[in-house]
Amino acid sequence: METAGIRVRFAPSPTGPLHLGGVRTALYNYLFARQNNGKFILRIEDTDQNRYVPGAEDYIIKSLQWCGLEFDEDLIKGGPYAPYRQSERSAIYKEYIGILLDRGHAYLAFDTAAELEDARNKFSNGHEQFQYGMKTRLQMKNSLSMTADEVKSRIDRGDRYVIRILIPENLTVIFNDLIRGEVKVLTDSLDDKVLFKSDGLPTYHLANVVDDYLMRISHVIRGEEWLPSAPMHLLLYRFFGWEYSMPQFAHLPLILKPEGNGKLSKRDGDRLGFPVFPIEWKDPSASEVSHGYKEDGYLPEAFINMLALLGWNPGTEQEIFTLDELISSFSLDKINKAGAKFDPAKARWFNHKFIQLKTGAELYAYLDPVLRSNGISADPEYVMKVISLIRERVELLPDLWKHSVLFFRAPDTYDPQVKLKIWQEGTSSFLEEFSAMLKGLDPFNKESLHALVEEFTAGKKIKTAQLMNPLRLLVVGSNQGPGMMDIAAVLGKDEFLERISKGLKNI
Ligand code: GLU
Repeated sequence: METAGIRVRFAPSPTGPLHLGGVRTALYNYLFARQNNGKFILRIEDTDQNRYVPGAEDYIIKSLQWCGLEFDEDLIKGGPYAPYRQSERSAIYKEYIGILLDRGHAYLAFDTAAELEDARNKFSNGHEQFQYGMKTRLQMKNSLSMTADEVKSRIDRGDRYVIRILIPENLTVIFNDLIRGEVKVLTDSLDDKVLFKSDGLPTYHLANVVDDYLMRISHVIRGEEWLPSAPMHLLLYRFFGWEYSMPQFAHLPLILKPEGNGKLSKRDGDRLGFPVFPIEWKDPSASEVSHGYKEDGYLPEAFINMLALLGWNPGTEQEIFTLDELISSFSLDKINKAGAKFDPAKARWFNHKFIQLKTGAELYAYLDPVLRSNGISADPEYVMKVISLIRERVELLPDLWKHSVLFFRAPDTYDPQVKLKIWQEGTSSFLEEFSAMLKGLDPFNKESLHALVEEFTAGKKIKTAQLMNPLRLLVVGSNQGPGMMDIAAVLGKDEFLERISKGLKNI
């Protein structure tokens, strides 16, 4: 087969939501394709009907859309190798399993669930688990152990059967993994995996190899959990006579728990309070809703940047990358072999950095609808002033509202804990005096305020904090927020004075 250039695929099974590790796999495929002017393909591997979860396919597509990873060939766009959903390709797999049977590389197996269970009990012992393979296959019910007549009569009477690969004995399979280097496996350790199920559909292994070949995939970039299957896949390529146009493999390291031991799971996210899914997932069976990075207020560019560096290093100190920069810097040989520890604080750090790169107008576009939904209509110029004052404190998008609400709503309550700490005898009376002086302040700005505060505190022989802390409590309702002078300057004289007088009445 002539080469078709760089063609990579993301091949998820719609068995649930896409975990952030899956998004990273898609991302690395995408970066590799774009960098090499290649094609990035989506293939839905849905031949395991038992594990099919309604909504998962749609979820996967929407998640990757949010991330900005666009496919060149997929279910919607189509492409030269359509269909891209494996359940629609069953006739193709039937043809190819036929080839393997004809060539004696596969055989029919009639063992029932109970017979397999018996074999598991019979053949497993302390150090060895039952494997359907060279040591056991002749004692099982299959077309190798039975006569042709027996096989025929079983088929004729409608017995259910699967088709298994016949793993050759005592053969060393060697291939080069682009991340791990040479991988060498003795076939004796492999089992005769099922290639074709009794429901008339292939298993992952057969469908994956046939499709990668037919879709002219040049590189298989996928999770490390598939590394143990790769030697068997190589055998399949060989049996079909495709070994010399077989894709190159790159098995990506795991994403580990923040503590470093074991694979990152949804439970870790629940336990430590961070999402593991890109966008919200509503579990159709459990009516459980898991929030995603999107809903938590992450920018897709920050999420992508964070994922890119989880297992890959650019070889420089650079940490912030646009998607275009990722495309040009990415390389498979800088992917680490070891697992990458997930760091939720670092994820927020990336988001903070990307928020700082947004223009005031972009942040306005986010905040404006939030203000409206809270019944606030504010002058855009005022909103922009607020944004420029608080943006530096924003990690996640909802922080924009959290940090700006004080500029749109005067407090109704005053934190009693704070009051207890800072309110002393005489505080009320010198605040009244100070506010009378404020009334005459003209111009009213940071500098003039500063000067007034200095003059006032010196005259009263009090520390600046003795004035500013109570002032903050009256104006903000707590001990939070940006610098008091900044707050005052943005609120303006009238609002500032009004809050002080309201506060003095209510506290
Ligand atoms: N369907 C497999 C999965 O969901 C794809 C593995 C591969 O890329 O070969 O992980």
